[in-house]
Amino acid sequence: KQQEVQSEKVYDTQCPYCSMQCKMQLIEQSIVSRKKYTTVGKDNPTSEGRLCIKGMNAHQHTFHQDRIKYPLLKVNGEFVRISWQEALDHIKKQFTEIQAVDGQDAVSVYGSASITNEEAYLLGKFARVALKTRYIDYNGRLCMSAAATAANQTFGLDRGLTNALTEVPFTRVIILAGTNIAECQPTIMPYFEKAKENGAFIIAIDPRETATTQIADLHLKVKPGMDAALANGLLKVIIEENLLDEQFIKKRATGFEEVREYVTSLSLHDLSDLTGVPIEQIKTAAIKFASEESGMLFTARGVEQQIDGTAAVRNLLNILISTGKIGKPYSGYGAITGQGNGQGAREHGQKADQLPGYRLIDNEQHRAYIAKVWGVDKDELPGKGVSAFEMLKKIDEGEITGMFLMCSNPVVSNPNANFVKAALKKLKFLVAVDLFVSETAKLADLILPTSSYLEDEGTMTNLEGRVTLREASRPCPGEVKHDWQIICEIAKVLGKEEYFPYTKAEDIFDELRIASRGGKADYYGITYDRIRKEEGILWPCPEVDHKGTTRLFEESFSHPDGKAKMIAVKSIPDVPKEKPNEEFPLYLTTGRVMSHYLTGVQTRKSAALAARNFESYLEIHPETARKYGIDHNKLVTITSKRGSIVVRSKWSEKIRQDTVFVPFHWADSQNVNKLVAEELDPSCKMPGFKLSTVNVTPV
Ligand code: SF4
Repeated sequence: KQQEVQSEKVYDTQCPYCSMQCKMQLIEQSIVSRKKYTTVGKDNPTSEGRLCIKGMNAHQHTFHQDRIKYPLLKVNGEFVRISWQEALDHIKKQFTEIQAVDGQDAVSVYGSASITNEEAYLLGKFARVALKTRYIDYNGRLCMSAAATAANQTFGLDRGLTNALTEVPFTRVIILAGTNIAECQPTIMPYFEKAKENGAFIIAIDPRETATTQIADLHLKVKPGMDAALANGLLKVIIEENLLDEQFIKKRATGFEEVREYVTSLSLHDLSDLTGVPIEQIKTAAIKFASEESGMLFTARGVEQQIDGTAAVRNLLNILISTGKIGKPYSGYGAITGQGNGQGAREHGQKADQLPGYRLIDNEQHRAYIAKVWGVDKDELPGKGVSAFEMLKKIDEGEITGMFLMCSNPVVSNPNANFVKAALKKLKFLVAVDLFVSETAKLADLILPTSSYLEDEGTMTNLEGRVTLREASRPCPGEVKHDWQIICEIAKVLGKEEYFPYTKAEDIFDELRIASRGGKADYYGITYDRIRKEEGILWPCPEVDHKGTTRLFEESFSHPDGKAKMIAVKSIPDVPKEKPNEEFPLYLTTGRVMSHYLTGVQTRKSAALAARNFESYLEIHPETARKYGIDHNKLVTITSKRGSIVVRSKWSEKIRQDTVFVPFHWADSQNVNKLVAEELDPSCKMPGFKLSTVNVTPV
């Protein structure tokens, strides 16, 4: 029976999940004794009004009964409600004592790429000015740091996409390397589908057949971890077939001769063996990409989450430069960011080596500029810290004994998760800021409740580098505070109130604009008013009358000489990767499913999303499954050198026979990161999530 709608409220908002940051409206209707929620997409230049299943159901976690609504202190192993003042006094006492006894750097900060630009900026300032610790890093280190480092090394600048997404439909050839956009950023897909309709040739590089590889004209089913070698094969064909853009290389790049000398010394036959990709396929992909007038290359975690991820991305960028496919219409590079603010959160000081605007903490001029903006002495700013996983190691070693953790779940997201949990238990004091009592928050001494996407206001920078504004559309429930308010209140009890005088998110953004001015990620010309009027602005935007930058590198790259830097990349890196052996005969690779986000803290609370994927699984080829006695849809124990998990089997002919796949959104006995090795990429400190070796046995 149709019931009468008694009242209706519309929340204008933005999806809290992936880097598309789709605009949407949540419509709340009161009907007798219940509320009905409907989410609809809102037109905008990036997602054009589209939404995926995650965005449509995001409100379910916001309204979930398990939301933390007041501070919780662990007393005798149980969390008890306390007041904010008690929580703040407790933090002051604990952090002050720890720093007095164990040293200034003994308190660390672990941030997130799901928070706003304002909060990411403020967290960096909080670590350096209020806590005066060198140890700050964030979960983005585990996400796209390899692509960021590779872009910085090659181009001198890291912005997710070098071109606006609107150029994609008009390009002639596309390489999608290690990216499953159809599941991870579903609303981006129509750009690629339009390109295909317009005649583009699409090449996918992935060990698995996925919803994304289905749109490809050619799927290179590479062995896990062999992307750098595959890029060498492609480069070799391009060079030998005389398909180079010699003029572009000469004018715009350095280092090409070294690349030429190295790749021509390789055998295509050996590269085919190494990568598992037939020679004919390598040739077709290389000739097709190099022959077309325009082309775009996209990478994501499949290539990047490797211990040679930086090198592998650099080698793919070598292809782009060799063929002159960057800095011109419909040609360019994109690292498809995973987290909602994966781009903005990596620009303004949350990283161990970084100050706002992509400035560097060990550069004297950069330190002086930021110290002036913050009103502190540059010599008082701490030095460079270490990466996220290395901070966890320092906890294990006893050098770090306190941690302020904001909106992150390292127990589930880091490699060798059993080690991480044991390390975090050693902390003298752990404060976790979160929406829910996550697996990591459970280990905390104190949990502080934070606002959700419907309540918090601030800017996010999407995968294009477009700065967007998410307005607050609902008051915080209970005693919940925004992340930036929490940071300011802790700074106040630590006696640093004068440096944190903000009354709203826009005040922080206005300071960020100045702090980023003249830096590589220059936001100075972007204001809240402009974002509202212009529906987002792509940085760099150095002046308020600058229209933003939709295409990078048209005239020059961002190195001092204006040239892109090419280097020869070894097919097999010096850092040893795990190889299948008798005990652990299979490659394990990990990834996402469409209905979940990161470690699932929010999406596992959504009934609609959890119903689609309520548990993890093992994707295994039927031939492999038979070999190891694994039936379809049965529980399987997966074991690596570091631990074991139990998940249900899913037979699939879409995966290589030497490889199994497990998604990473689940915790405890289903947490696949318990199996993953902790070795890090030497350049960017990314763990090798995409390659471990395991065995599988039926339960
Ligand atoms: Fe859009 Fe990503 Fe949210 Fe899906 S998860 S609605 S693609 S922002």
